[in-house]
Amino acid sequence: MKIGVIGAGTMGSGIAQKIAQEGMEVVLVDKEEKFLERGMEKIKQTLDEGVKKRIFKQEDTEKILSLIHPTLSYEQLKECDLIIEAVYEDKKIKEDVFKKLDNLCEKKTIFATNTSSLSVNELSECVERKEKFIGMHFFYHPAKNRFLEIIPSRYTSNEIIAKCLTFSRIIGKVTVITKDSPGFVVNRFFVPFLNESVRILEEKIANIFTIEEVCKEILGIPMGPFELMNVTGVPIAYHAAKFLSEKLGDFYKPAELLKEKTEKGQMCNIEGNLEQDKKEEVKKRIMGAVFYVVLEMLDQNICKIEDIEKGAKVALRWRKGPFEMMNREGIQKVDEYVDEIVKKYSLKKPESLKKQINIGPFKIRNVTGLKKDGVGFIIISRPEALNALNEDVFKEMEEIFEKFKEDKEVQKIVIEGEGKAFAAGADIRFFLKNIESKNLDRIVEFTKYAQGVLNKIEKSEKPFICKLNGMALGGGSEIALASHTVISHPKAYFAFPETGIGIYPGLGGTQRLPRMIGKELAK
Ligand code: NAD
Repeated sequence: MKIGVIGAGTMGSGIAQKIAQEGMEVVLVDKEEKFLERGMEKIKQTLDEGVKKRIFKQEDTEKILSLIHPTLSYEQLKECDLIIEAVYEDKKIKEDVFKKLDNLCEKKTIFATNTSSLSVNELSECVERKEKFIGMHFFYHPAKNRFLEIIPSRYTSNEIIAKCLTFSRIIGKVTVITKDSPGFVVNRFFVPFLNESVRILEEKIANIFTIEEVCKEILGIPMGPFELMNVTGVPIAYHAAKFLSEKLGDFYKPAELLKEKTEKGQMCNIEGNLEQDKKEEVKKRIMGAVFYVVLEMLDQNICKIEDIEKGAKVALRWRKGPFEMMNREGIQKVDEYVDEIVKKYSLKKPESLKKQINIGPFKIRNVTGLKKDGVGFIIISRPEALNALNEDVFKEMEEIFEKFKEDKEVQKIVIEGEGKAFAAGADIRFFLKNIESKNLDRIVEFTKYAQGVLNKIEKSEKPFICKLNGMALGGGSEIALASHTVISHPKAYFAFPETGIGIYPGLGGTQRLPRMIGKELAK
């Protein structure tokens, strides 16, 4: 596969680096030599940091650099399978680039734009090959942040979406497919989170230090909104909020203070003492704003609940996604928090909230079922937890397996993990919690149940294939052992690390492994 990237700036250089890191050739184009040099220098610096942190060996970095071909010539892009555009955020400039490429490139070439704020639908109008045009929104730093939003336009064909998903998996991204809507998935709720924090400060509900601390606490993040804006740039937050408000309405409008700080080129001065008595009020406002937005996203069918959860946890590294937070708070409290936001900003209460009040907690799926060309795919989708296996995962796996078993159209079943791991074993917290509370029966019960699921897989009349895309630890290895066939990526590996801490592989590992490789090796 030959990939092209246009624009060797902040994003383009990082995207090219990531692609080369995964072993693919990449042509990196910019309009001036000095920008190419700057981009390559940035890549070298990031790789050197990686060597210092022992992520790469020195020889790896040389190999990676040799796969990147910087050039000023668009001609070099002619035969690419996919070209990712990351030039300035300017519609006219982007359109000129795509028109030029449309004339130059072979018919097969797919065009992707990394735009943050332009409409993918509108951009795609400038090319002939509309069905081969798509949005691919990477996050900073593209070689480090694992999240990727894929935005099909109204013309993008299913075949092209599938190809882009495959490419995204090859470069190790956790991907969501989203509607072409302002802010796509993550920025839609992240920017209002920053903005609401500034409004709370502006309204003197609490001091900056308290707001910062409350956000860190409820989201489990090392930097609160103000420190984050200091690091990434206050103007970026301002422009993002302005853009969202122009498209989505006044609730998204940047706080006056944010505008002022942008105009004066000021940073946020985080000081003061913690105001204990203000914490609850801050929490309610922050949660209310974030919950309102994600519920509105459900009403507008932007993406799935699980996509928002992944965005929060993988792209932003929040400890919990908004829906998990809502389930923790309880739907009645969520209703209260959102109600306050709705009244304050004269909004409409989201329909999805009205509906959910009668249902209870939101269902957040950990495992996805997908049917394609006679194959049923079971995809373990907890990439932020390296697909660790818990009771819910096993229950959902079994439920999907049973469905595929009965479905006459499904001839084979494939199991895989989303992200870089296949499955990092059983969720150790479950064991620790039950050991500490002397609830060993719960562990026995879970083990028996999970053994039952794996026995069903082993006895499945339909071929059951394990697609081992990454590490398989403990229970992950046991799923692979119960499968009829294992197809493995060269980087994938098996292990039973639990034996090192005195836990034996309880889901059949002690039985199936010796049968397969003999007692001595298994021991
Ligand atoms: P940047 O200014 O750092 O880089 C843009 C590069 O494009 C420059 O090197 C410039 O010389 C080059 N360029 C401009 N016109 C060109 C042309 N006609 N042909 C070839 N090269 C050309 O910008 P950036 O921050 O990397 O952003 C690029 C895109 O990615 C934008 O659409 C932006 O909205 C989007 N994006 C940015 C971020 C971020 O955090 N910076 C995150 C996600 C998406």
